[in-house]
Amino acid sequence: MICDWFNKWSLYCPEKTALTEVDSTTSFTYKQLNNGTNWLCHYFKDRHNLTKGDRILVLADFHAEYVNLLGVAQKVGIIIVPINFRLSATEISFLVKNSDPSLIVVASHYKHLLSEVPYLAEHKLLEFEQLQVLLQENCDEAYDFPAEELEENHPAFILYTSGTTGKPKGAIYSHGMMLWNSLNTAIRLQINSDDVNLNVMPPFHTGGWNVLTAPILHFGGTLIMMPKFEADKVLQTLEKEKVSIFMAVPTMVRLMRESAVFEKIDFQRLRYMIVGGEALPVSLIEDWSQKEVLIRQGYGLTECGPNITSLEANDAIRKRGSIGFPNFYLQTKLVNESGIAVDKNEKGELWIKGPIVTPGYWRNPEATEKAIVDGWFKTGDILLKDKEGYLYVVDRIKNMFISGGENVYPAEVEQCILKHESVKEVCVVGVPDLKWGEVGKAIVVFKEAKTDISAIQNFCLQHLAKFKVPKYFEVMKELPKNDTGKIDRKLLSATDEVKSTHLT
Ligand code: ATP
Repeated sequence: MICDWFNKWSLYCPEKTALTEVDSTTSFTYKQLNNGTNWLCHYFKDRHNLTKGDRILVLADFHAEYVNLLGVAQKVGIIIVPINFRLSATEISFLVKNSDPSLIVVASHYKHLLSEVPYLAEHKLLEFEQLQVLLQENCDEAYDFPAEELEENHPAFILYTSGTTGKPKGAIYSHGMMLWNSLNTAIRLQINSDDVNLNVMPPFHTGGWNVLTAPILHFGGTLIMMPKFEADKVLQTLEKEKVSIFMAVPTMVRLMRESAVFEKIDFQRLRYMIVGGEALPVSLIEDWSQKEVLIRQGYGLTECGPNITSLEANDAIRKRGSIGFPNFYLQTKLVNESGIAVDKNEKGELWIKGPIVTPGYWRNPEATEKAIVDGWFKTGDILLKDKEGYLYVVDRIKNMFISGGENVYPAEVEQCILKHESVKEVCVVGVPDLKWGEVGKAIVVFKEAKTDISAIQNFCLQHLAKFKVPKYFEVMKELPKNDTGKIDRKLLSATDEVKSTHLT
């Protein structure tokens, strides 16, 4: 059963602060959050004629008022499509076409990103800034809005990933997933209404909504929003606002550690820092433990949960590198290449089943069928279970690397580079990088003896989000292939190969 969280908490503790924003006067109590959301439901219905199942595509920073859209999804079943504002206009035009929104909410400084959307004038647009003003004006008056009955499988969000085929796929994040993920998270992290969470993750990743934001609101806690990550400010806010629970990706954790204010911060109120999305170097866990900050490594993915496993903080050093045990309401198994479940100390692909698994990809039955077999979601991650049952991510079958917390799919970058007239063959691999964890390296074979590699980089910058554009380029006469004629990616990603051209 899907429940309207904002309505419930506005009855239980109307005057409690639900939501504030750093460096802003914006602050909503649960009553105001609920009023504003109800008002917005009326507005979308009366003014824009939106009903259950319609999509609102959003291209905006994660300000407090963005959270009202979660309430709209829960109350009336409108589907929210948060878009990555780091993508190029070409990439965004595809997502607009694929999600087919009835309304586009866009911050004025991101309007240029819609420039390649065909027939833009035929789309209804609403400026995010106007939405903010409307919500500020209409949050103090009680509005009622009868909630729709929603099935657990009804989409709350569509979250786009690029996918191993290079074509973006919209992962449906359903209300049921949000509910069960919240429960799983609350059980493992003991979330309760006294918790205060600072969110610095962006709205277009599941990390922004579902790792802590949704569970905190589900359990009546307080959420502080910081639309732009700044290491010093995050550290100061953790202390000033007595933040009790905080999620970050490893690149952020490292930048915070390197900040000049790190040593001065009192972290006493911070129960846990949740770090996930990619492996966290152990040296960082040790650095933070000297300030008595407990770090919990987590593993997850958009299509399942996202919160799938978590390592107890007091195991962080003893079980370095482990992602811990699976969460409560879900089943996992490690499966070998023949589809047989493997035992402890053996490697296998992680398969996940349970109410936290996505109903599928938006309007993409082939991709859904490939990913989910008999209710089991095949993650593409290779894990190992040690003799005590702790899980470790040891490899990936899916061709993907993670740069500063953003997933990069080489297939997509390769498809882009191949469109350049002078390129015959290309392979993109992830290579280690001190700042971003990993960055891309493109190994290019030109059709003719030509080495103007900067033209290829400029071409990528025109068509791809910056984080996907390779940092290194290398020219080869031919790409190494294995026995079956496939490009030998492992060989090309060997670290000593990073002696190629570094373009800035
Ligand atoms: P977000 O969308 O907010 O970035 P996320 O990283 O949990 O959240 P995805 O973007 O869907 O979710 O990426 C999931 C993939 O990230 C996993 O399949 C896995 O390959 C990788 N991953 C996630 N957590 C870890 C971890 N702790 N260690 C290693 N790899 C991880």
